[in-house]
Amino acid sequence: MALIVHKYGGTSMGSTERIRNVAKRVAKWQRAGHQMVVVPSAMSGETNRLLALAKELAPAAASSATERELDQLAATGEQASSALLAIALQAEGLAAVSYCGWQVPIRTNSAYTKARIEAIDQARIQADLAAGKVVVITGFQGVDADGHITTLGRGGSDTSAVAVAAAIGAHECLIYTDVDGVYTTDPRVVPEARRLARVSFEEMLEMASMGSKVLQIRSVEFAGKYRMPIRVLSSFTPWDIDLNTEAQSGTLITFEEQQTMEQAVVSGIAFNRDEAKITVLGVPDRPGIAYQILGAVAAANVEVDVIIQNISKEGKTDFSFTVHRNDYPKTLELLRSQVVPALGAAEVLGDARICKVSIVGIGMRSHVGVASRMFRSLSEEGINIQMISTSEIKTSVVIDEKYMELAVRALHREFDLDQPTDSLASN
Ligand code: ADP
Ligand code: ASP
Ligand code: MG
Repeated sequence: MALIVHKYGGTSMGSTERIRNVAKRVAKWQRAGHQMVVVPSAMSGETNRLLALAKELAPAAASSATERELDQLAATGEQASSALLAIALQAEGLAAVSYCGWQVPIRTNSAYTKARIEAIDQARIQADLAAGKVVVITGFQGVDADGHITTLGRGGSDTSAVAVAAAIGAHECLIYTDVDGVYTTDPRVVPEARRLARVSFEEMLEMASMGSKVLQIRSVEFAGKYRMPIRVLSSFTPWDIDLNTEAQSGTLITFEEQQTMEQAVVSGIAFNRDEAKITVLGVPDRPGIAYQILGAVAAANVEVDVIIQNISKEGKTDFSFTVHRNDYPKTLELLRSQVVPALGAAEVLGDARICKVSIVGIGMRSHVGVASRMFRSLSEEGINIQMISTSEIKTSVVIDEKYMELAVRALHREFDLDQPTDSLASN
């Protein structure tokens, strides 16, 4: 008997028929003797539908008061799907109970729309499990110290599931979704993409942070911090397939690095259309300018990603960085109204039609020339690179968004990702 957490995404919860299938699958696990905690997302499209209603009423950038209400609103999606799942489980003859984040409670900070989980009380969950119940806990939401409902950012149910799994000391967290695992790149963009049977935790962290939406980055961070094994697998297999086969399917995020001779140099390609580029031109080149620009941006709670400062010419330099597109108008406004006048810079330019494409692989540690292969491949396609950033196991480039698919396909071919080659290959 093991303590297991299942997470089901929006598509997997997308209709009453699918919720019934989820309930039957969970019942199969429970009847095999496991203690089950299930974390569902809102039914597919529901979070978008709710947020679009809010946008009709308040199209402008949200104030903190409005962001509170956005969380109050968006959290209803998961409340509904969790209750529906508990009802479906009861209809299967199981004892089941659903809880909202605040009822557990899942405690977060107060950063509405992107709150971080701080603590999870496991008492109620453990008591219900001991009483033989399946416990359903809303994904995506929590509660702050003052009792306000918060949400964890888009895709946040993954994080809820892994955090709950860590808090209750689960054996494994299974993330059921609409693809049957983690692929070399998004299979919707590159049909030749291959499923990885295993991917290292570090690679998954880079892939998620570089834009692979299959797992929210914070869920991978939690998995790393608490060494919680995660498996990504399909919710679209027949619910009654053999449990052991199901338990071995999909992609395991592993903490063991299988560094073999055949280790693929690049394991996956991630891309992200959610960023925008901002350039401050004609900045007087003196100590402290990066701090003056980025300090102001950080104080406005905006995260900065790729940063470039050019060499100085006649005492002036240009400074570029990327931010999330949601934060783009606010950041431009902040720079134009406050930072540029204070710095004595010339002007601020912005471009939201960019994307970031990244190659990721622990094999990059032991191979030289990987980045130059990437740049050559892009140049052969006539793609201009605007910014570059690297870490030990990834290289990212910022390019015009109209070349995104072309770039991803070219790199997928360049690094032989459509060929089964090594220990990470699909099984
Ligand atoms: P869920 O609603 O189950 O959370 P998501 O839409 O958030 O599902 O994540 C699954 C989707 O992630 C897939 O449908 C796929 O299009 C996308 N995706 C992006 N990169 C990858 C990748 N490397 N491997 C698998 N899926 C990926
Ligand atoms: N329902 C939320 C979203 O659409 C959370 C999730 O699905 O993980 O972003
Ligand atoms: Mg998701």
